[in-house]
Amino acid sequence: MRECDFLIVGAGIAGASVAHWLAKEHKVVVLEREDQPGYHTTGRSIAVYTEAYGPAAIRALAIAGGPFFKNPPKDFTSLPLCHPHGLMFVAREDQKTLLYDALKAVQPMSPAIREISVAEAVAMVPVLKRDYLAACFLDPNTMALDVNAIHQGYLRGLKAAGGEVVTNAEATRLERKGGKWIVTTPAGVFAAPVVINAAGAWADVLAARVGAKAIGLVPKRRTVIAFAPPAGVNGNAWPVVFDTKEEWYFKVDAGTVLGSPADATPSPPTDAQPEEIDIALTIDRIERATTMPIRRIIRKWAGLRSFVADGVPVAGYDPNVEGFFWLAGQGGYGIETSVGLSRTAASLATGKGIPADVRALGITERDLAPMRLWDGTAKVAAH
Ligand SMILES: Cc1cc2nc3c(=O)[nH]c(=O)nc-3n(C[C@H](O)[C@H](O)[C@H](O)COP(=O)(O)OP(=O)(O)OC[C@H]3O[C@@H](n4cnc5c(N)ncnc54)[C@H](O)[C@@H]3O)c2cc1C
Repeated sequence: MRECDFLIVGAGIAGASVAHWLAKEHKVVVLEREDQPGYHTTGRSIAVYTEAYGPAAIRALAIAGGPFFKNPPKDFTSLPLCHPHGLMFVAREDQKTLLYDALKAVQPMSPAIREISVAEAVAMVPVLKRDYLAACFLDPNTMALDVNAIHQGYLRGLKAAGGEVVTNAEATRLERKGGKWIVTTPAGVFAAPVVINAAGAWADVLAARVGAKAIGLVPKRRTVIAFAPPAGVNGNAWPVVFDTKEEWYFKVDAGTVLGSPADATPSPPTDAQPEEIDIALTIDRIERATTMPIRRIIRKWAGLRSFVADGVPVAGYDPNVEGFFWLAGQGGYGIETSVGLSRTAASLATGKGIPADVRALGITERDLAPMRLWDGTAKVAAH
């Protein structure tokens, strides 16, 4: 039996990032069911950091990590973790109210976000149809992230501090004995006083294995297709373009357009695959809003974005199950929030409370605690 201080279940961005901070002072082992970390949602994102998207707590947690992405410590990576990209929200006439409500909500925390005219929007992204658009705003601070470099940076730091990731190691049985969890996996038996549940879409499945109450996590499938821009068009300098009601979006990544119908279809936790109907919707919606014909799909994939009722992640000890710490529900924001959330989770897991800089951004323990989902105080969000 191998012993450590913290046993983390799941080696996606959530597990890797909290392991990174905890390993600086504690013995940490990360258990991953697949044969490589990042196979599920972490490897399937569209890699955007934006201050213009999601509930206030999400935007705060993203902002808390912005300086790290821009200036990572030297030993974290030899590659840039991000580059400027920009993001534009656009609205049709019938969506204008929604767009202005969203603009009003995000400006207090991010005053650089500003309305732009339709003419400016079309000048920036000439494939947008002028007569489709009625209002637009721009987040000039949005960045494109290098997810692999970020994920590998967390894992490298874990290993450098003496921690380890064990793959092909699904935590199948978890028993509490003598103040420790004894965790059985196909790769051996592990013991630790604390288990951190970073199992992504499977977080409630893992909770059931320790007898904890579910947090009501709903994995939602989202589809992405990659296609070539029209001949002669170079979209590398375009911002990400997001329909304000989340009916579609597209982002140019190294010369290829990534498009999505922004679907959010509830799914069991699984190895999500794209469905034909969602691919057809992507093509239809992007062709309606732009002059880009989508003739050939170069790549397609789907991933699960897992949400609890209020759309805010869950980070904190389960009050009813000793030594069981939740780190789940990152939804569509788990990469951009990974620095702010994992530093917070590591601090909470070691009894130090919310880090001062994160607290200064308005985040309280209560905002993240699992209890809010059980006592009826969590607000229900649309996502
Ligand atoms: C299409 C799409 C676009 C997105 N775009 C963005 C974006 O632009 N910006 C952003 O910030 N976020 C984005 N996201 C969201 C982001 O990718 C997720 O929030 C994040 O990857 C979740 O990470 P995770 O570690 O919780 O989950 P995962 O990466 O799924 O990791 C969980 C891991 O736990 C393992 N596991 C589960 N059960 C067990 C067990 N019992 N034992 C051992 N291992 C177990 C699984 O095998 C898995 O590897 C996007 C997501 C999708 C699908």
